[in-house]
Amino acid sequence: MLETEELWEENVRRVTPYTPGEQPQQKNIIKLNTNENPYPPAPGVREAMQEMDIDLLRRYPEPYGDPLRKALAEETGVEPEELFLGVGSDEVLALAFLTFFHGEKPVLFPDITYSFYDVWAELYRIPYRQISLNEDFQISKEDYIFPSEGKDGIGGIVLANPNAPTGVELNPETLEEIIAAHPEVVVIVDEAYVDFGATSVQPLLKKYNQLLIVRTFSKSRSMAGLRLGYAIGNKKLIKYLYDVKFSFNSYTINQPTIILGQAVLRDRPYFEKTVRQIEETREKSASRLESLGFKVFKSKTNFLFVTHPKLDIPDLFEWLKKRGIFVRHFNKPERIRPFLRISIGTEEEMEALFTNIKEYIIGKEK
Ligand SMILES: *Cc1c(COP(=O)(O)O)cnc(C)c1O
Repeated sequence: MLETEELWEENVRRVTPYTPGEQPQQKNIIKLNTNENPYPPAPGVREAMQEMDIDLLRRYPEPYGDPLRKALAEETGVEPEELFLGVGSDEVLALAFLTFFHGEKPVLFPDITYSFYDVWAELYRIPYRQISLNEDFQISKEDYIFPSEGKDGIGGIVLANPNAPTGVELNPETLEEIIAAHPEVVVIVDEAYVDFGATSVQPLLKKYNQLLIVRTFSKSRSMAGLRLGYAIGNKKLIKYLYDVKFSFNSYTINQPTIILGQAVLRDRPYFEKTVRQIEETREKSASRLESLGFKVFKSKTNFLFVTHPKLDIPDLFEWLKKRGIFVRHFNKPERIRPFLRISIGTEEEMEALFTNIKEYIIGKEK
């Protein structure tokens, strides 16, 4: 029986929410489904937490997240006024959509990309057009440089680089051509995974005032649970972003985040060591998967996007899950249904994954 709709429901803003990867609560599982870092936060984080002055919690935090913003400015080589801090890059992106995409013209992004972009566009009623990636999950730059709406016909561009969930990197020259072609709209480049061997477009900030780069502490810095992300951009862009944010919630960056975020930044060698380890495990894992017959896309991230010509991928996904190994499978869009996105875990976790995949394959061959 269908429930009848109540009168007040007519006035509700109805949306289909983003579906995050599962966060199963049982212990002893191998979690390769949400691109978290398999290594713990930098050792200094524990110390900073233990030494935190609890009385600080009595007060509201500094509204810009200083002194964390200053420390991050030093780390990234920009002015503090060129930085915006948010509760994960999801919040930064959500506020950037709200701030910069305010017109009748469609915002462009690929059909296969971070599946939150269309959710925000729907939420804010921003028109958008999703452009198909080619067979190799690459973008064709002409689609963005010469959009079918015409040069004056678009409201913005959003590109994740490297892209998710494919892991594929777009070269910085191509990105620059796209950014240079559209001085009249904001171009957002989501660099959630840039630390895992990709090239940042940060040098382009000097040339293009309409470029906004978004990054996160969730992946390369092992701090998904803290919820800290940031944007880098021209001071004017950042000011507009803060104006919207301060019209919504002044105190988003809480006191523990300000303290722990700085502790993360203090240990650069740990950051570099863990990132390098993940890259090494990624390359090894890619070869092993290929030797099992998988097609593996060249990744510059902490995950691999794979398919197999002979295996029933949704079935393999469920089978692994029953054995406590969680990877990510997307039902939408249709053409990525035969793919799995596998986050890079520790060497031991990847070993367990391969053992299980081999067992699955042997079981099917019988
Ligand atoms: C993980 C991810 C984010 C969001 O990360 P936060 O945890 O909210 O910082 C944003 N964009 C892409 C492409 C991601 O994969």
